[in-house]
Amino acid sequence: MTTPGETRRAFLKKSAAATAVFAVTDFAALAAGATKAGSASTKADAVGVLPWYRRALRWGQTNITEIDPQRYDIAWWRQHWKRTQIQGAIFNAGGIVAYYPSKFPLHYRASGLGDHDLYGELARAAHEDGLAVLARMDSNRVHEDFYRAHPDWFALDTGGQPYRSTGLYVTCVNSPYYDEYIPSVLREIIERSHPEGITDNSWAGLDRNSICFCENCQRKFHEQTGQPIPRAKNWDDPVYRQWIQWNYARRLEIWDLFNRTARDAGGPNCLWLGMNSGTIAEQALRFRDCKAICERSEIVMLDEQARNDATGFQHNGEAGKFIHGLLGWDKLIPESMAMYQAGRPAFRLASKPEPEARLWMLEGFAGGIQPWWHHVGAEQEDRRMFQTAEPIMRWHAENQQYLINRKPVATVGLVWSQENYDFFGRDNPDELVELPWRGWTDALVRARIPYLPVHADHIARDADQFSVLILPNLAAMSAAQIETIRHFVERGGGLIGTGEASRCNELGEPQSDFALADLFGAHIPAASADLVNRRQAGQTQQTYLRLTPELRARVYGPKAGNEPVASGQRHLALKDFDETDILPFGGSLEPLRVDSGAKVLATFVPAFPSSPPEEAWMRQPHTDIPGLIVNEAGGHGRVAFLPADLDRRYGRDNLPDHGNLLANLVHWTARENLPLQVGGAGFVDCHLYQQQNKLVLHLVNLTSAGTWRAPVDELIRVGPLSVRVQLPAGVRENHIQLLVSKASTKAAVKNGWLHFDVPTILDHEVAVIG
Ligand SMILES: [Zn+2]
Repeated sequence: MTTPGETRRAFLKKSAAATAVFAVTDFAALAAGATKAGSASTKADAVGVLPWYRRALRWGQTNITEIDPQRYDIAWWRQHWKRTQIQGAIFNAGGIVAYYPSKFPLHYRASGLGDHDLYGELARAAHEDGLAVLARMDSNRVHEDFYRAHPDWFALDTGGQPYRSTGLYVTCVNSPYYDEYIPSVLREIIERSHPEGITDNSWAGLDRNSICFCENCQRKFHEQTGQPIPRAKNWDDPVYRQWIQWNYARRLEIWDLFNRTARDAGGPNCLWLGMNSGTIAEQALRFRDCKAICERSEIVMLDEQARNDATGFQHNGEAGKFIHGLLGWDKLIPESMAMYQAGRPAFRLASKPEPEARLWMLEGFAGGIQPWWHHVGAEQEDRRMFQTAEPIMRWHAENQQYLINRKPVATVGLVWSQENYDFFGRDNPDELVELPWRGWTDALVRARIPYLPVHADHIARDADQFSVLILPNLAAMSAAQIETIRHFVERGGGLIGTGEASRCNELGEPQSDFALADLFGAHIPAASADLVNRRQAGQTQQTYLRLTPELRARVYGPKAGNEPVASGQRHLALKDFDETDILPFGGSLEPLRVDSGAKVLATFVPAFPSSPPEEAWMRQPHTDIPGLIVNEAGGHGRVAFLPADLDRRYGRDNLPDHGNLLANLVHWTARENLPLQVGGAGFVDCHLYQQQNKLVLHLVNLTSAGTWRAPVDELIRVGPLSVRVQLPAGVRENHIQLLVSKASTKAAVKNGWLHFDVPTILDHEVAVIG
């Protein structure tokens, strides 16, 4: 007896050319087309099938260690590929260690490899099983003999000594190693084994904390700028900033060169994919321009293996949306997901607790990311790690039609740019850029408000779907970006700016006033030209915000009595704060000049001692220094400006008051134009999509004892949740499927809104509506 799969494999084996190729096992009906000559991908195209990079939805990778050539049980792994239903596999080919007999004498072979071609055998087996194959490189570092043979190919420090890392020598991206040697290795790998593409872990070379002074760098930088390489980091020096930009441009040249090489050697669909991170700070550190790379790529291979405590599981859902926003929603973003204990602490050979691995993967699905299991080493004594992927990959395969080719539904846009990380964030992007961003994302996830990251250059492209745009301490902005914001608000869009938003040009140089000062209704007084927010981001003081007007109906004390001392009603943006006149703050504020049409909703209470307790009283209870300003003057959209860095505070301190105020500002500026409401207890991350005439709603239950301290080892059930979702034109409400619980649920429609309950959620639920 043979299974249908075996029959199909036998057929493909027989019909494929001598060089094994990626056949279309998932599309059995098309297998006949695979007998035509040519590479796998062009064959697929010839019969009208999507190329591999649009249809390989599940991936697997066993990172090969140096002792694996002696112990790699390929037959066992083939079974595991099948059990986990992967459609693509990544195998180490070359770089630091070669797993095939390379013709290049300096290409270090795995000890004990001899003339054995482990990589080639794996590639052949995977091709026979119908998988796409990516050859993995880790190209930047090499052994000492290589350095001795070509010392001019290596990165040098100010003293002319080679940079070293983990005992290896770091090559220079501006040397012939990158222009000639790696392309020749890529050609060798592609010609030997015909992979669908190549990844490379360390392609971007030396990071920006190290300056290379090799002759190649000195010559090329001088040719480009007429300047010598800057001797040290100095963000105020225009030449240093040119060096940063020059480095970014070189990485893109390398990207293009390696892609040309791969296509020349392997055909039009043979792609060189490097490797990228879903964290902008990490991309910036390595001169990888997210936007430019996504514009060049058909698929992004993401290396973001685990969560960290600060950014949470929700970061993975966001990473998918952030990359898709640049790449397009019709493309794929497989992500390496560690089955071992990645993160802190890291144990390469120990199993990651299954619930921890699972929630990371599910958040990825919610953001449109494709799963890619990752093990380090061909043999594992902690066999529990082999049980994690199978059920979740099976669910993915059963429901894959709802998990790709869809468009997010969100009316809140969070604006970012990599320039703001580099030129405003400089050496402190975590506090200046990441924390304000995270404060917003945490507040929005907690309030269950769908949002999308929007690149500052894409505002005009994406604006139509948004009710409000948020500039979280987005200080470095170009004139063109400012114009698109202005246009958006003039057409009635809401705007929230925080901290130093629009205060600098695109190179991070402070200007005399906010570029958006007229919309914010607030100006920098002539005397002050300092970036308070850059200087004081890390401090926490005993400061407060005083809410206006004060509603002191129930202030008890010798002076207040029980009678109201001020009358009036709080602004909607201060909803649910009626029982307090102050909010804890922690930051510092300087005076601003406020336009007459704008309203100040909160003022600054300067710092006073917090201890001893006898000293803890406000020395200056009232100032006119604004902490929150709203502006509806001028007939444009609603604008809120938060000089007080409550977003950064919320990202760091997690005080509910700060999160609630941020959510209030979104409700007010968006004029309640938000497409989703989810009620019920728990920390649930909600992602809403439209797919033709259907809505797809992901609800990921992040409620756990380990939510803010990895790892999660127990899932805690929540529910029922009541869902209200606005039905877009074309979506009929006649049918709701719950793809995880398979439970049935009753729906009602009122005024264009669909109401239904999700009875219970353990880890996640996906509701398909329509
Ligand atoms: Zn160099």
